[in-house]
Amino acid sequence: MEWCRRGRGVLIDMITGQCLFGDIRFEYRGELGHASYCHCSDCRRHTGSAFNTVVAVSETGFKLTGGKPAEYTTQGESGRGITRHFCSRCGSPVFGSSPSHPGRIYIKAGALDNPENIQVSHQSWFSSAVPWAFISADLRAFEKGSVGASDSLEFSK
Ligand SMILES: [Zn+2]
Ligand SMILES: [Zn+2]
Repeated sequence: MEWCRRGRGVLIDMITGQCLFGDIRFEYRGELGHASYCHCSDCRRHTGSAFNTVVAVSETGFKLTGGKPAEYTTQGESGRGITRHFCSRCGSPVFGSSPSHPGRIYIKAGALDNPENIQVSHQSWFSSAVPWAFISADLRAFEKGSVGASDSLEFSK
């Protein structure tokens, strides 16, 4: 994968990504749109995480280079339809689309081969954000794994 520069509105050579098993592979050539977090409850459940992180791109530059994602369409909290494309074998969410925004693809930033190049510009549905969506830079961090961390399953009261 080759990056010229990072950020929104910048022409890039190509970004690539894949599902966990690598069955689903995609590439995108063109201008990057906004990258954003979504805190809505649908995105939280869909990702199994605190929030969803997506990069908006144009459908014309987006190409599946491997596999065929499964998909379903639901009404989001906004009342608009959202189609979620995922790998039916490993379950990874790969990208989204919406009949309300034809021509756009919302790539899951975590599926990118070089996710560190994404710069998030905003967050949506902040009213639904869980209190632990924010990670303080002061929180104890392990460079790899978490060996030495408490393995207590006690929840904070
Ligand atoms: Zn959402
Ligand atoms: Zn997969």
